[in-house]
Amino acid sequence: MSILAILEQREGQWNKMSFETLAAAQQLAKELGTTASAAVVGRGIGALANELASKQLEKVYAVEHDLLKDYTPDAYAAALRQLVEAAKPTLVLFPHTYQVRDFLPKLATGLDRVAVSDVVGHRVENGKPVFVRQLFQGKVNVDIRFATDGPNFASLQAGAYRADLVAEGTAPVEAFAPQLDAGQIRTKPLELFRESARAVDLGAAEIIVSVGRGIKEAENIPIVQKLADALGAELAASRPICDAGWLPMERQVGSSGQTVAPKLYLAVGISGAIQHLVGMKGSRTVVAINKDPNAPIFEIADYAIVGDLFQVVPELTAAVVKAKG
Ligand SMILES: Cc1cc2nc3c(=O)[nH]c(=O)nc-3n(C[C@H](O)[C@H](O)[C@H](O)COP(=O)(O)OP(=O)(O)OC[C@H]3O[C@@H](n4cnc5c(N)ncnc54)[C@H](O)[C@@H]3O)c2cc1C
Repeated sequence: MSILAILEQREGQWNKMSFETLAAAQQLAKELGTTASAAVVGRGIGALANELASKQLEKVYAVEHDLLKDYTPDAYAAALRQLVEAAKPTLVLFPHTYQVRDFLPKLATGLDRVAVSDVVGHRVENGKPVFVRQLFQGKVNVDIRFATDGPNFASLQAGAYRADLVAEGTAPVEAFAPQLDAGQIRTKPLELFRESARAVDLGAAEIIVSVGRGIKEAENIPIVQKLADALGAELAASRPICDAGWLPMERQVGSSGQTVAPKLYLAVGISGAIQHLVGMKGSRTVVAINKDPNAPIFEIADYAIVGDLFQVVPELTAAVVKAKG
């Protein structure tokens, strides 16, 4: 049994979820009494590989090739197949990013294996990992055991593991040069999609203040905006708020919006519908303000404030401003 974490970078910048995957690989390795290695893929990735060399890992693979400069599913699947065949890991872990969703099925089926996607947790039973993933918009949790020997593949949901738990150490870096041919690559990458400067990356936010239909009308949004500003937080929302155009779609959290995992998620006037919860239940601490003591959001909240948001939020804002001096 051995574990390989394949981490994601783009233009030399880590995807934040990469370190969650690294933490998961280390945790699983410890529980299974084995070791974890990690790989980074691309071109000009020496600095990123060196960064990984300071983590508690068996080995760091720098998977480098000119044809890996820009992401293409064909090149990534081919390169990683060669790496998996050479390194022979039993379990290969990935962050559940859009890119991974794109190439992982091809990689896994190419090796006659399946991939468990969007894993939210695991446990170890009889020396083997059992992965948990959700079905039906988070209504049901299912346990998944691999029926085949390795390599087996799993991608991990944002926020399911804690990046701040990555253990430091030292690891050798090994260059891995896959054999790739331009003729294998059937797609031509165009310019990278860049979100407008106004766009927010809620996934990277440490504090989120999220507003729901309890706010009643667009004119009241500044009440929660002030709290977000005082906390240095990003403002987010439930779907009805974005559907109504009160806040842009990019601020929607949930199954049809963004998945977030901040240190603090403050839900203001949000009932806690399952489609909203699936997008934020990886948050470290959840504080909910709702006038209905039976609101479902309280089932997952760490701190429940039962009250009228129009009274609670201004008082909270004033208290934060005062505390920050
Ligand atoms: C396919 C599908 C995808 C979906 N995707 C998403 C998604 O990505 N994200 C998402 O959020 N939803 C999504 N939804 C919608 C979801 O089902 C809920 O309808 C939505 O999350 C409810 O938003 P809400 O909590 O803001 O509103 P409501 O459910 O109306 O809740 C408002 C809450 O505010 C409280 N409240 C009212 N007045 C006050 C006050 N003065 N002070 C304090 N509290 C007050 C109420 O008690 C209530 O709990 C999706 C639905 C479907 C079918």
